[in-house]
Amino acid sequence: MVNSYRIAWYNAVHLLLPGLNSMTVAIYPGTFDPITYGHMDIVKRAAGLFDQVIVAVAAYSGKQTLFSVPERVTLIQQALAGLSQVTVLAFDNLLVDFAKVQQASIIIRGLRAVSDLDYEFQLARMNQQLADGLETLFLMPAEQYAYLSSTLIREVARLHGDIDAFVHPAVASAMRTKFKE
Ligand code: ADP
Repeated sequence: MVNSYRIAWYNAVHLLLPGLNSMTVAIYPGTFDPITYGHMDIVKRAAGLFDQVIVAVAAYSGKQTLFSVPERVTLIQQALAGLSQVTVLAFDNLLVDFAKVQQASIIIRGLRAVSDLDYEFQLARMNQQLADGLETLFLMPAEQYAYLSSTLIREVARLHGDIDAFVHPAVASAMRTKFKE
């Protein structure tokens, strides 16, 4: 009861004071071919920090992908069902332009190990040059996900290894279907 009063009061204050009413939107871009428990861990951490998180699936990433864009979007939606402030969208333009249209002020990237840093640092610097004010925030996954990569999981699945510990059941099932084709 106390909580619902508190929420009602909070909502009323935010509606009456437009300055306080602005939502912070964070965008988490990637190829997600496919989404892994590592990516999901990052999304959950971001969802705990921001009002809205957009998982942005790169349609053009220069990589040959196993899953098509609509397949990747559907799998992410299935994996993240239940996280109400998370939306999944595909984009095929420059990330900073897409972020602007979505009114996002934060780019989320995941850091697994120091080896990610070189590329991530370059990317963040480039995005900072392209759109000053759009900040990149790095989040670390729980340790047990730090060794996961979509590339490795695709390789294991291709050779019919067990991937259940690495991806959501919907993703595991879609991968089994792919490699039966
Ligand atoms: P990209 O092709 O842009 O590298 P990915 O889908 O591979 O896209 O990864 C998107 C982001 O998620 C990147 O910041 C990457 O470092 C991060 N990431 C990938 N795998 C993991 C993981 N296991 N734990 C945490 N972050 C991860």
